[in-house]
Amino acid sequence: MLCRGSVLSRSGACVVLGGLTEDVRPHLRNASAILHGYICSVASTDEFTALRRRVMRRCVYALNALALRDDRVPRDGAFDAAAANALAAIVAYMASGREYKSNGSWVQPPTALLAIVRREPEIKTDTLNNSELHTLGEGIEKAKLIRHGRADEEWDVLNKRHVDALISLDQHPALQVLEIVDGLDFTQAAVELYRTETEELMPFSPKERSMVPEPSECDYCGRMTLITEGSDVFGFDPGEGTCIACGRERTYDDTVHDYAWRVR
Ligand SMILES: [Zn+2]
Repeated sequence: MLCRGSVLSRSGACVVLGGLTEDVRPHLRNASAILHGYICSVASTDEFTALRRRVMRRCVYALNALALRDDRVPRDGAFDAAAANALAAIVAYMASGREYKSNGSWVQPPTALLAIVRREPEIKTDTLNNSELHTLGEGIEKAKLIRHGRADEEWDVLNKRHVDALISLDQHPALQVLEIVDGLDFTQAAVELYRTETEELMPFSPKERSMVPEPSECDYCGRMTLITEGSDVFGFDPGEGTCIACGRERTYDDTVHDYAWRVR
């Protein structure tokens, strides 16, 4: 059990924040939490991993689907990414683990995920209709054509009805994300989805919320989404923590490495 006010560390280290040491569920602070006085809470590494996957799948689906809706990108690659992530999110939400191949190694391809959704009413739910799922499947097949450098001959094989079918997936309870992230960039969208996913886990006390430190710049992806306890033990660099955008974990070894680099 980690302690209250700790940043989740996948190495298992408990990073105490602001002197909060009560023995309750650990808190993972997300960038939104920090920027807006919120905080999110997770119980384990696995829960954080599942949360991050859910957020990223919804995020990738939504940002690509919106760009397609507004005709801001070539359709094929964006369609492929949006469909794959939306279908993985739907299957994972309704039957966690089924989105993976039987050996558990990789997420199944979108055609296989779509087959599960179409075949199993309890996964599809009443929010999706067969006609749109058929059109979606057609779109997934057409999107494959562009992968091999044949843009000149295969340009724009997807049309509005395929995009509409993709957009209609948003009605499924696993997604319902387009309205939330419309107009946001990637970092803003990811942060907002973390916030909405974890809002009920925030501490009630305004004092506890106010003790959340500012986020740091992730040295891997460059976003201001590295969640740490503040500066490291040397007082120079960000402390240990996890980037909620790219998943990079900053460990004590990184602290030591950066300090050694600084003083050499
Ligand atoms: Zn990062």
